[in-house]
Amino acid sequence: MTKTNYDNAVIEQENLKYEGKAKQVYLTNQPDILWIHYLDQATALNGKVKETIIGKGEINSKISHLLFTYLQKHGVAQHYLKTVSQTDELVQALQMIPIEVVSRNFAAGHFVSRFAVPNQMPLHPVVQEFYYKSDALDDPFINDSQILALGFANPDELVVLRQQAQIINDLLGQLFEQVGIRLVDFKLEFGKNSAGRIILADELSPDNMRLVDQQTGHSLDKDVFRQHTGDMTVGYREVLRRLEQVI
Ligand code: C5P
Repeated sequence: MTKTNYDNAVIEQENLKYEGKAKQVYLTNQPDILWIHYLDQATALNGKVKETIIGKGEINSKISHLLFTYLQKHGVAQHYLKTVSQTDELVQALQMIPIEVVSRNFAAGHFVSRFAVPNQMPLHPVVQEFYYKSDALDDPFINDSQILALGFANPDELVVLRQQAQIINDLLGQLFEQVGIRLVDFKLEFGKNSAGRIILADELSPDNMRLVDQQTGHSLDKDVFRQHTGDMTVGYREVLRRLEQVI
C-alpha cells in the first residue's frame, strides 16, 4: 500500500528519506508527515551483524503502537499518527535531536561491562545517559556540556529531555509491572515540532528496551538475538500478547 487517508487528506508514500537498522522512513506528499515501514530485520553491534527475522516488523509495529497509545493516554507528546498496515504507520515529521536518551532501572549491557557490577543490580536513582546518535562514531557517550557546546540542545531542552525520560520510565515501568515484566533499561529519541515542542519519536519495542520475565528471569528482548540464545520473536510475541491484555 502506498496511499492512505489521514485527517481528510490522501497521504501518498514518496521517496525513501532514511533507512535505519530496523525501519525505513519515507517522505510523503505532506511535509509534516512521514511514512514508516518496519523491516523484518535484526541487527547487533551497531549494524555489523544483520539477519532477516520473518514477522519481526509486524510485531514491533504493533508493540510500538500499543506503547505510544498508552503514553499518549497519559499525556506524553508523541509522534504516532496512524497505523496504515501491519508493518506501516504515519508519524509526525520532526526535527530530530541527535541524542539517544537511555534510562536504566537495573544494571545490564554496557552498564555492567563499564562498571563491572552484577547484572540486574537495582539502580537508585534511575540512571540517565545520553549518547550521540552517529553510526560512523558508534553512538558515543555524550555529557550535558558536550551537548550544549555542540548545539544539539539548549539548557531548557536538556531539562525537558530528562523530565520526559523520567515520566516515560515511570509510566512504562508501571505498565510492564502489571504484566509481570521488569523494565530493565530502554532508549528514547526525541524531535522538535515546528512550534519547538519536544516530542517523543522513533519506536518503542523490545529492540530498544531490555525486558525480563519476572517469573522465569528470561529475556524478552533483543538480547536473545545479541547473545544467540534462541528465537527472539518468541519473547517479542509474549510481550505483545501481554500488552494486548491491558492496553
Ligand atoms: O547497550 P546498552 O546497555 O547501552 O543499552 C541500553 C538500552 O538502550 C538497551 O535497552 C538497548 O536496547 C537500548 N539501545 C538502543 N539503541 C542503541 C543503544 C542502546 O535501543 N543504539
